[in-house]
This record gives sequence, C-alpha cells and structure tokens, in this order.
Amino acid sequence: MTDRIVEAVFKCSLCGETAATVTLIPLDASHADVLQPGVATLVIADFIGRSREQVGGEREEPLRAALEEKNAAALYELERLWAPFYCPRCRQAYCIHHWTVVPNFDDEFPGFYDSSIGTCPQGHRRKVDD
Ligand SMILES: [Zn+2]
Ligand SMILES: [Zn+2]
Repeated sequence: MTDRIVEAVFKCSLCGETAATVTLIPLDASHADVLQPGVATLVIADFIGRSREQVGGEREEPLRAALEEKNAAALYELERLWAPFYCPRCRQAYCIHHWTVVPNFDDEFPGFYDSSIGTCPQGHRRKVDD
C-alpha cells in the first residue's frame, strides 16, 4: 500500500494568512521533491523560503499524525525546526510577517551565517532556522 502525501497548511493566528505549508512525502512516493528514494521527505514552505529534509522511518508515523491533525504543537514537539512558525509559549502559529527574524552570525567566524532567531508578536524568542 502506498501512503499518500499529506499537506498541512498552518494559518497565522493573527491575520489568517498562511504561516507555513508543511508536506510529508512518503518514502515510496514518486515526487519531484524526494531527496533520496526510499526515504520520506518533509517539505517546509511559505515561511522562510523552502526547505526539505529527510525523515527517518520511525518518525514518519507521528509526523503524519501531526500533519493530519494540523497540530503545530505536536509538530514542534517532534522537531522544533519543523514548526518554525509556531511559538510554544503562546501556543500559536504566526506568519513570517508577524515574526521579527534576525540572523545570528557565528561568533568564531564573523560573517558566517549560523541561525535565525525569531521574536513572536508577544516578545517570545526562539530559534527559527539553523
Ligand atoms: Zn509567543
Ligand atoms: Zn500574520
């Protein structure tokens, strides 16, 4: 049996715009975004650019469940950077326009991008990109 592709669109709790579109492509799907045949791929789009990563087999089922429920908190619990749009302290999703994202540069190698720190509309800070 072939698992189907699950796409979850998370909305900003303030403006209703799309905060992110998160798509799980099962390991046996043929799809242009698949990184490696035989490994499930997660695509996170519409927040900061578009990122893809491989998902290990044991994480695929809980990830699928979180996306089917559109449960940003569960997604965040699985892997924080899979839900960069979610503030765990507000327990809300926000779109990129409502986050203030500041790039963080490596201390030892000035000029090298390290990660991004986001501040939610309520002033909570978290890492949103790495
Ligand atoms: Zn917050
Ligand atoms: Zn918004």
